[in-house]
Amino acid sequence: MPLIDNLLTLYNVDRQVRSLRSRVESAQIYLNVQNRQMESIGVEQTENDLQRKQRIANIANVETEIGSIDLRIEHLREELNKAVNDKQYSALLAEMNTIKEHRKAFEDAELIEMSAVEELNQSATNISERQEERQKVMKVATKELSVRKSEIAEQLAELETERATAATVIPDSVLDEFDSLADDYEGEAMSAIEIIDLKRREYSCTSCSLRLPLDSITSMLGNKEEIVKCVSCDRILYLEVESREAIAPTEQ
Ligand SMILES: [Zn+2]
Repeated sequence: MPLIDNLLTLYNVDRQVRSLRSRVESAQIYLNVQNRQMESIGVEQTENDLQRKQRIANIANVETEIGSIDLRIEHLREELNKAVNDKQYSALLAEMNTIKEHRKAFEDAELIEMSAVEELNQSATNISERQEERQKVMKVATKELSVRKSEIAEQLAELETERATAATVIPDSVLDEFDSLADDYEGEAMSAIEIIDLKRREYSCTSCSLRLPLDSITSMLGNKEEIVKCVSCDRILYLEVESREAIAPTEQ
C-alpha cells in the first residue's frame, strides 16, 4: 500500500485507541480532582487541630495563673484580718484590688480562648462532614474508573496491537511527525482535502478551512509516497477516494 494509505490506516486505529483511552482518562481525571480536594481538606484539618490544641494550652496556662492569684488573694485576706493599723490595712487592700484586676484580665482572656475553641470545634465538625461526603464521592469515582478500565481492557489491547502493526510500515521520521501531530490535535493528525470548486481548482483543508495552494494537490496526486501537509494547521493531508476520482479520474 502507498504511504498515504498506510498513514490513513494508522490514523483510523490511532483515533479509536485515543477515544477508548479518553473514556478512562476522564474518569481518572475526575478521581484525581477528588483526591486533591481530599488532600486539601486534610491540610485544613491539621491546621484546625493545631490551632485548637494551642488554644486549649492557652486556657490551661490562664487557669494556672488564676489559681496562683486565688492563692495570693486568700493569703491577703488572712493578712487583712490580722492587720494592726490603717496604713497596713490600706496597703494590703490596694494590693488586693490590683491583683483582682489582674484576675479579671485573665478571666477575660480565658473567655476569648474558650469561644475560639468553640469556633474551632464547629470547624472540625464541618471538616469531618465534608470529608465524609468527599469519601463517598471518591468511592463512587474509584469504582467507576475500575469499571471503565475493565470495560475497555480487551478492546484496547486489540486496538493497540492493531495500531502497533499499522505503525511498523511507516518510516520512523513520518511516524514521529504523525505522533506529535496526533498528540497536539487529540488524534486529529490528518485532514481530508475538500473540493470547493473543481473547475476553478479550488481546494481547502477540512480541519482548518484554509484554501490550499494547487501545488499541494498536484504533489499529492503525483506521488503517493510523499507527505503533503496543510500550510496552515500542519496536518497531513489526504484525498478521500471520491475526491481523488473527481480530481483525477484517469489515475484510478
Ligand atoms: Zn489545515
